[in-house]
Amino acid sequence: MSRILRPASFSQAVAMLAEHGQAARPIAGGTDTLTRLNAGAAPPSLWVDLSAVRQGRDIRVQDGALRIGALVSFQDMAGSAALAAALPALHQAANIMGSLQIRTRGTLGGNLCNASPAGDAIPPLVVADALVELLGSTGSRMLSIQDFLLGPGQTARRPDELLVAVHCAVVPGTVSAFVRVGARAHHVITKASAAMACRVDRGILRDVRFALGSVGPTVIRAPRVEALLEGHTPTAQRVAQAALASAAAARPIDDVRSTAAYRREVCGELVGIMLEKLGLQVG
Ligand SMILES: Cc1cc2nc3c(=O)[nH]c(=O)nc-3n(C[C@H](O)[C@H](O)[C@H](O)COP(=O)(O)OP(=O)(O)OC[C@H]3O[C@@H](n4cnc5c(N)ncnc54)[C@H](O)[C@@H]3O)c2cc1C
Repeated sequence: MSRILRPASFSQAVAMLAEHGQAARPIAGGTDTLTRLNAGAAPPSLWVDLSAVRQGRDIRVQDGALRIGALVSFQDMAGSAALAAALPALHQAANIMGSLQIRTRGTLGGNLCNASPAGDAIPPLVVADALVELLGSTGSRMLSIQDFLLGPGQTARRPDELLVAVHCAVVPGTVSAFVRVGARAHHVITKASAAMACRVDRGILRDVRFALGSVGPTVIRAPRVEALLEGHTPTAQRVAQAALASAAAARPIDDVRSTAAYRREVCGELVGIMLEKLGLQVG
C-alpha cells in the first residue's frame, strides 16, 4: 500500500523527495500516472501529491518573457489570452489536447515529465527555445527543453527535483503554430505533429524554427527545414524542398497508431499545412 504526502509548497515537496529518494514519486493531475497504474505498473511506496501546492499555477508575460508554472492545467492554458498572444502554438496545442476532463486535470509539468514522444506541449516549447526550471534540494537549475527530454519516459530530472516552471522569450513579431495528425481531431494520441515559429518581414521568413513530434524517441528539431525556409519567401519549389527535408528528418516507427511510412509522408505534408496555418501564402 502506498503512502501519500501532500506538501503545501514546492520546497516542502522537494524536501520529501530528497528524504525518501527513489521510493517517492511526484503526482500532479494524475492523468498519465493513473493510466500507467491501470496498465499494471508498480506504484511507488510514497506519492508526493502536488495538489495542495499553490505555487506554479499562473501564466505570466513580463519584460519580454513568458513564464508558465508547472502546475498550470491544459484548460487554463487553453483559456489564457496572454498565452494565445505570447506563444500561439502552445495555446493551440492546449485547446486540442485530450477532453475537457483531461485538460482540467492534466498539467504542463506532467506532460513534460512524462516525456512521451506524443506529448503535445513539447513541439511548441521546442520552437520557442524554452527552458525548464527544476528545483532540487541543492537549489534550482535551468535546462533547455531539448536537454531535459532524453527519450520516451526519460528526462534529466533528478529524483529529488521538481519541474517548477517553463520559461521562454517573447520576441515581438514572432508568429507560431501547432498542427497534429491523428485518427480523429480530438480524443486521440498524436500520430505526427509539428510546430513552427518565425517572423515574417515583408513576406520573407526570418528566425525559422521547426520541430516534429511523435515521429522519434523525442521531439525532433529539423535544422535542414529551417535553413531551406530561412531568408526566403515560401515559394512552391522551396516548400516542396522543405517538405522532403521534413520527411527525411523524421525517425518514425510502426506501432498500433500508425505505420512509419504514413508518418514520414505526413511529416512532409506538415510543412505546407503549417505555413497555411500561419496565414502565409505559398506562391
Ligand atoms: C484519456 C487521455 C487523453 C489524453 N490526451 C492527451 C493529448 O491529447 N495530448 C497529450 O499530450 N497528452 C494527452 N494525455 C496525457 C496526459 O493527460 C498529459 O501528459 C498530462 O499533461 C499529464 O499531466 P498530469 O499532471 O496529469 O501528470 P501526472 O500523471 O500527475 O504525472 C506524469 C509524470 O510526471 C511526473 N510529474 C508530474 N508533475 C511533475 C513536476 N511538477 N515535477 C516533476 N515531475 C512531475 C510524475 O511523477 C509522472 O511521472 C492524455 C491522457 C489521457 C488519460
